[in-house]
Amino acid sequence: MSTRPSSYWRLRPYLYRLEGNRCTQCGHFNPFSRKICRKCGSRRLERDRLANHGKLKHFTVVYQPQNGLEKNVPYIVAWVEMPDGTQVIGQMTDCEPSELTVGMDVETVVRKIRVDGESKLIIYGVKFRPVL
Ligand SMILES: [Zn+2]
Repeated sequence: MSTRPSSYWRLRPYLYRLEGNRCTQCGHFNPFSRKICRKCGSRRLERDRLANHGKLKHFTVVYQPQNGLEKNVPYIVAWVEMPDGTQVIGQMTDCEPSELTVGMDVETVVRKIRVDGESKLIIYGVKFRPVL
């Protein structure tokens, strides 16, 4: 999988800080720089940022990775509910599956996600880990 450097730079606010646009009509958090709310279609959005912690709702261990993540296998993918109710899917880090329990508190950290195959650009982004 290849990532154009220009795409990566545009995605950095979400990848690094979980920034997006929150709808002033319905309160839905829209990741990245969406201009129209995915839930209600409103164009009245304000810049916002998700909390740096949440609750682990579910997780799985991946042995068949998506392209670009072959070197990370096995890795843990988590479904996390943030305090505002936003659901986020992301990788877990700094832990083993046996250390995880559904409902536990997790926090965000910025870690290396992968190295782009063509440009060799190192892609960083938010991962989750158990609260220390
Ligand atoms: Zn909305």
